[in-house]
This record gives sequence, structure tokens and C-alpha cells, in this order.
Amino acid sequence: MIDLYSDTVTRPTPAMRQAMASAVVGDDMMGEDPTVNHLESMVAEMLGKEAAVFACSGTQSNQMALRVHCVPGDELLINSTGHIGNYEGGAPAALSGITVRHITAPNGFLEVEDLRGQLAPEDQHLCRTRLVCLENTANAGGGRVYPLKQMQRVAEWAWSNNLKMHLDGARLFNATTAGGYSPEDVGQCFDTVSICFSKGLGCPMGSILAGSHDDIRQARRVRKIFGGALRQAGIIAAAAVYALENHVTRLADDHRNAQQLAAQLSAVDGICISPKDVETNLVFFEIDKNLGTSAQLGSALSEFDVRMSPFRGQRMRAVTHLDVEAEDIPKAVDAVRKAMAAGIREQRVPAGGPHSE
Ligand SMILES: *Cc1c(COP(=O)(O)O)cnc(C)c1O
Repeated sequence: MIDLYSDTVTRPTPAMRQAMASAVVGDDMMGEDPTVNHLESMVAEMLGKEAAVFACSGTQSNQMALRVHCVPGDELLINSTGHIGNYEGGAPAALSGITVRHITAPNGFLEVEDLRGQLAPEDQHLCRTRLVCLENTANAGGGRVYPLKQMQRVAEWAWSNNLKMHLDGARLFNATTAGGYSPEDVGQCFDTVSICFSKGLGCPMGSILAGSHDDIRQARRVRKIFGGALRQAGIIAAAAVYALENHVTRLADDHRNAQQLAAQLSAVDGICISPKDVETNLVFFEIDKNLGTSAQLGSALSEFDVRMSPFRGQRMRAVTHLDVEAEDIPKAVDAVRKAMAAGIREQRVPAGGPHSE
């Protein structure tokens, strides 16, 4: 099967498994796992931060940051398509009593003008605005990349208004690869940065949160409360170290494959896509609504051993990653062409909501 559902479907490579099997480990909850400690200092240094803390998932790592920056009754500002506000099970409210204020920015990327009017003045009636969250690359924002200058402008505005800045960098290295800036450039725009190892980097699990000594000390407490403090976590941290050393530069291959996919899909009847909007490994396209829905195309594709991720309505997402080869791209496009030509309208759609990872 050619699985373009998400970059979360990657399986650890034999070399990664080898690194995991031979990891030196200890009790991480006591700060004694050398592999976790190594990973944490490695990431802190890459981002120009004082410290970092390993977490089980991207959701956990984001929510640890939110709890550090906010108290119950506070609100955060985030783009209306943001993962933290839409796809983390209501965690800001459920875990930390935080109100999420969704801001609809014209192109999916927050700019100072979008935020300025949203800052609540000091008033007992209003939530206290405390935090700005950006997402880079923006997942439901089309996998697009924030320009460095824009992150800098937002940070300057936020800090001058006493707000904290958090980055959901689930795909940070896709952003730095395509954006032409360094992880450290990004680190300078945020108080805390979360990165996922289980997406394009190809690890079985794990995320990390980087920030100041104080913020990360607090985040460690929160991680314990959220049930994410582990023991011999070096087994999984070793996969992350391996990925940082071996799977970052190859992300450019995924981006090239995504470009190919977009270009070839644009030639398929009934598919609407603008290849220049594809900046990283996430490829979004629309299906002509006279022909069927993305869920129906998804069902039809299963007969051709190809999987993609139907979003709401006409919108479909296909993701390139470590386990997708260049020669899979024309095969996947061929499957789409055949499915569309055969007609997808009659397809029965399995139950289940839109996908978000
Ligand atoms: C995948 C993802 C996360 C974290 O999701 P988990 O399933 O908890 O690992 C966070 N933000 C974005 C943008 C993501 O794509």
C-alpha cells in the first residue's frame, strides 16, 4: 500500500530500532536517563534555549506549555485552524481552564494586525489574554511555512504587550527546511517551542518542549501531573536522537515528492490544486463537488491500495514521508485518476470524522 494518510504512519527503520535497542538508560523521572538528558540538551541547544523536557506526544507537550503560561480564566489567541484549539480534545479547557480565542486570519497565518484588536483590556468581565500560539508548519493551514519576519513581528508585539509566545512546531524541521531559516532563528521568537518526533522525523513516539530553565522546570511538574513522566524513556529518546542526526536533511526529499504529487494531481480531471501553494510535505486538494466528496474518493482509493486523508467536504490531504518513495508518486496519482474516471459518487463512506494529525 502507498500510505499518504499522514507522516505519523512511518515505522522505525532498522537503524533506528538498532539505536533504540542499544540505548543507555536510567530512571528519567529522577533525571537519571543519560539518553533522555542528551536529547534534551541537544534540542535546547539547537533552539538556543536553556532547557528542554521530553514528552509522550505533541498534544502533551503543547498542553504542558499552556499550563505553564496560563492560569484558569486566562485566554490564548490562536489561528482558527490551529491544532491546539481544534484537535486536542478540548484540552486547554479540560486540563487548564483556558479559553481559546480563535482568530480568523485571511491566509491562515497570524499577523500583528489580526491580533491587535483581540487583546482584552484589564476588566473583570473579560478573560485575561495571556498567550499567543502559532503553528509552523501550519497543518490545517495547508502545510505552509511562516516567514521568519512575520514570527518576529508577532513576537515583538506579544512581548511588548506582556503576552507569552508558544510555538506548536510539530513539523518545525519541515518549516526550517522550506523556510530557509534555522531552528535557533525560530527559537528566538518564542518562550516555548514544541516539536514532534513522530511525524516526518519517523519516530514511533515522542515530542519535546524547549524554553527557559524556569518554564521547563514548571513544565516537568506539569508533565508529572498529566501522567507523562516516564522511567527508562531512553529507549524512545534514542530514536529521537537518531532522527535528529539522520532524518532532518532528508525532509527535502519529502518536499520534492510533494511537489511532484501536486504537479501531477493538477493534471487530473476533477481535481483542483495549485502546486505553488504546496510548500512542504502536506498536499491539500479539492474534489469537484459535482463528482463526489473527499470521503468518497478516500473509499475508492482503498481499492487501489492507496490511502489519503479526507478532510471536511471536498478537501483531501496527502502527506509524503520517510516511507514514500519518488516512484510511488505517479502510482498514487494514477490511482486517483482511475478512481475519478470510474466515478466515486456511489462509494460508501466508513463512519469517522475528519482527520487532523
Ligand atoms: C500531530 C500534531 C500535533 C500533536 O499531535 P499528537 O497526536 O499528540 O502527537 C500537534 N500539532 C500539530 C500541528 C500536529 O500536526
